[in-house]
Amino acid sequence: MYDFKLDGVAKWIAEKGARVVALQMPEGLKVYAQSLVAELESRTNATFLVIADPCYGACDASTTFSSHADVLVHFGHAEIPAIQYSDRILFVEVGADVDYRDLLSEVLPMLKEKVGLVTTVQHIGDVPGIKAWLEGNGRVVFIGRGDERVRHEGQVLGCNISAAAAVAGSVDQFLFVGSGDFHPLAVSIETKKPVIALDPMTKQIREMSDLTERILRQRHGAIARAAGAKRFLILVATKLGQSRMDLALRLRQMAIEKGRKADLVLMDEFSPDSLIPFEADAYVSTACPRLAIDDFMRYPKPILTPIEMEIALGERKWSDYQLDSISV
Ligand code: SF4
Repeated sequence: MYDFKLDGVAKWIAEKGARVVALQMPEGLKVYAQSLVAELESRTNATFLVIADPCYGACDASTTFSSHADVLVHFGHAEIPAIQYSDRILFVEVGADVDYRDLLSEVLPMLKEKVGLVTTVQHIGDVPGIKAWLEGNGRVVFIGRGDERVRHEGQVLGCNISAAAAVAGSVDQFLFVGSGDFHPLAVSIETKKPVIALDPMTKQIREMSDLTERILRQRHGAIARAAGAKRFLILVATKLGQSRMDLALRLRQMAIEKGRKADLVLMDEFSPDSLIPFEADAYVSTACPRLAIDDFMRYPKPILTPIEMEIALGERKWSDYQLDSISV
């Protein structure tokens, strides 16, 4: 089902003269890790070490692999152009082999005339074919170029939908091709355009408006609960592409100016248990924007994004609500 591009990987490992190679991949690909090791061992002279810790994106490429391995092969994400990675890291985009014919026929009646096409890196190679098929069936397809956090035209991340924003003014709606709720939700909230999500893996097609409304209600509730907080805990990530210390410092200053207390906490892997020792009425995550939304129910106190903290403290209006995003 997946193309791990092992010929290119083996060639790169040989060129680097690596003896020990660390492999990193998201949870969904880890089930293939041992087969990948066996295959790569048969093609190289290297020994392989699989990183078992969770991995969420190219923002999370290992910064510590060099204490145990000569190079790192990171499967499943495109590098973030704005980040300066070590030249001893190879990013391998892993495409899924999908037959779209029935799915596109099914989604076609739901599509208006001008469609913005967005996807994740897993399906980026399918974009030209999907675009051609839709155009052959009477739709005008727009594919945006995002900012320096995304590598491909039409690619969106949970923290960055700039490729959608670039064409939002020209389209009637968006078609998101990919898995999960967060990306199409972000496109829906940020662009305020209708979004249809087509999941090539589960074969499901969903209209996102109900979920968008539900999440906005949830966020409004979280902000209302945090508005009276006397003490905030501002969470900062150590991960390479999620660390926003300047933002955390600005938020802390804002809280102090509003007569609240605010402490800064540094974490690699975010979890409610890590926060048990600390006193706080509300948390603010400056890390991956998904944390406050996806993991909301896991935390005993309201967990906000930076923009939501601004609303809670009266620095921004609810009518100016936006999802948190990271642009570089
Ligand atoms: S910050 Fe979050 S949404 Fe952005 S690339 Fe990393 S894991 Fe994905």
